[in-house]
Amino acid sequence: MIITIDFGGTNIKIGLVDQGKIVGRSNLPSYSDKGMIVRLSDVEQEIKVLLKRQGSSISDCSGLGIATPGLVDVENCVILSINEKYSDAVGFNFQDWAREAFSLPMVLENDARAALLGEIAYGVAEGEKDAVLLTFGTGIGTAVIMNGQVVRGKHSQAGILGGHFTTDVYGNECNCGNLGCLEAQAGHWALSYSVKQHPTYFNSVLSKCSSLGYSDIIEAAQQGDQVGVDVLEGLLNHWSAGIVNMIHAYDPETVILSGGLMKASDFIVPILRERVRQRSWTPWGDVKMVVANDPDVSVLLGLASLVCEE
Ligand SMILES: [Zn+2]
Repeated sequence: MIITIDFGGTNIKIGLVDQGKIVGRSNLPSYSDKGMIVRLSDVEQEIKVLLKRQGSSISDCSGLGIATPGLVDVENCVILSINEKYSDAVGFNFQDWAREAFSLPMVLENDARAALLGEIAYGVAEGEKDAVLLTFGTGIGTAVIMNGQVVRGKHSQAGILGGHFTTDVYGNECNCGNLGCLEAQAGHWALSYSVKQHPTYFNSVLSKCSSLGYSDIIEAAQQGDQVGVDVLEGLLNHWSAGIVNMIHAYDPETVILSGGLMKASDFIVPILRERVRQRSWTPWGDVKMVVANDPDVSVLLGLASLVCEE
């Protein structure tokens, strides 16, 4: 059995994985603006409770996997850089923690890479050797596998910065330091800014939403609200551009779409598929576009497959 932990912005997801199946799960609130390290003792407790509930113990476990946002040095199990939240975890020695808390070996990986590995090992892209994943959550995370090898690069940042490819050179300031990044234009955290910039914002149903999500904009657009229609059209162009950029950069056969936005996949994906088909340069044929079944599960399963490889 393998212990897996996914440090998300809202929840810390914990899973026990056995033979590629999740046999136990638990969620803790992340309080990520308070940091990651302060949460580790609660995580440790929760894992021990979860194991007990399963009638298992640490001695049944062979390893531990942790996924976090940001740039991760997989070889040394250290976070190199992370945007804003969880910044206390940069440089923290997770290996020492895992050894002291559980006496287990561990792996640390970027969350989008873990999600991609989960989809390749057990999910919608099982067995694919050339694929990219884009996950539309608070930010927009990406990951890449080429020739069957996960792309990490010299400084651990290759493949995961697709959310920070520029889609508007005159665009919004991003938390990474760049201007007009895909996620600064069309990520969840940037939505309210895009909506409020619209000239007729105050006539829109969206002016009454206290916290804006992807679904609010899609619903407003479907009801014919002009701000919703215009903002959604812009979002679809940025998302398509983001996918085309990933295709032009990494030559995949399959694009995997994941994250909260995919709750509206029936509506969104056919539009994205058509725009990407028209705009991408792939003379060999059309890139397949598939939707992840359960993004949370794919991160946990991906971590388990990494632990097994180690
Ligand atoms: Zn950026």
